Amino acid sequence: MKKTVQIAIDGPAGAGKSTVAKILAQELGYIYIDTGAMYRALTYKIIKEKLDLTDISLLKELAEKTSITFDNGQGFANQLVYCDGEDVTQLIRSPGVNKLVSKVASIPEIREIMVLKQRNLSLTANVIMDGRDIGTVVLPDAKYKFFLTASLQERANRRLKELKEKGYNVQYAGVLDDIAQRDLMDSTRDVAPLKPARDAVIIDTSNMSLNEVVSKIKKIVLEGENRAL
Ligand code: C5P
Repeated sequence: MKKTVQIAIDGPAGAGKSTVAKILAQELGYIYIDTGAMYRALTYKIIKEKLDLTDISLLKELAEKTSITFDNGQGFANQLVYCDGEDVTQLIRSPGVNKLVSKVASIPEIREIMVLKQRNLSLTANVIMDGRDIGTVVLPDAKYKFFLTASLQERANRRLKELKEKGYNVQYAGVLDDIAQRDLMDSTRDVAPLKPARDAVIIDTSNMSLNEVVSKIKKIVLEGENRAL
């Protein structure tokens, strides 16, 4: 069986990972897997079922039995996220989920289950997977690893624009605070903290256009793949 190609894209909130990954997936013909959406979907379910974050055995059970799937029928830019059959695409971007998701994602027992689900999704096709620990933990042997970053202010501005476009009534200060808090929790947790893999290409996107970031990554991948032919 031909070995599949894996592209890992990690970085802090609002660095543009998912926008870049969706375009690349479309252009390269790879599958896009949004691992942040998986943690968000589980968080949505925990809120819905009013579970206590200290009840680890119930949380594990929920993480194991919850089915999280993606529908890319309308292209990756319009990817839909389903949680046990319910379309949660918009619901998982709510301020309530934003507030809790990093706490949920810091629970080692939950990460263990999610990492297995993510690895399974990457077995049968070429994938682009984005998150916080893809290059370090989920796909440590990924052929291509990138770490996207940008200044906190730039990331807050981008996220503000995105949320406003989705109809949320949010302010810059609140968005900046949310991102800063998540970054802090994500990069200081004990298990799989946010950090670049040793072999990742680090790209500071603060002063780059979306096109420039996509082109840079695509060039590296296409050169690598041409060499492998
Ligand atoms: O990527 P996104 O901002 O949607 O991710 C939401 C949260 O999920 C992150 O802030 C982080 O706490 C968690 N996450 C994670 N590991 C991943 C992807 C996301 O811990 N691979």
